[in-house]
Amino acid sequence: MDEADLAQKREQDMIKAALLGREKSLQSSNGKCIWCKEEAIVVDTAFCSAECGDDYNKYQREMKQRLGKQYQ
Ligand SMILES: [Zn+2]
Repeated sequence: MDEADLAQKREQDMIKAALLGREKSLQSSNGKCIWCKEEAIVVDTAFCSAECGDDYNKYQREMKQRLGKQYQ
C-alpha cells in the first residue's frame, strides 16, 4: 500500500463516517416515517419513501435559510 492508497482509504473512511453520522441523527423512534408519520419506514432509514426523504430535506433547508435570514 503506497501513499495514494492510504489517502484514498482515509477519504473513504471519512465519507463513511459522515454518512453513518447523518443516518444516526435521522432515525425514527417508533418505526414510522418521520416526515408523513403514517407509513412504516424502509429498513435503515427514517422515511417510508424517497419522496418523504426529499421533502424532509427540502423542509430542513428552507427552515435553515429562514432562520439564517432572521439572524442577519
Ligand atoms: Zn413518509
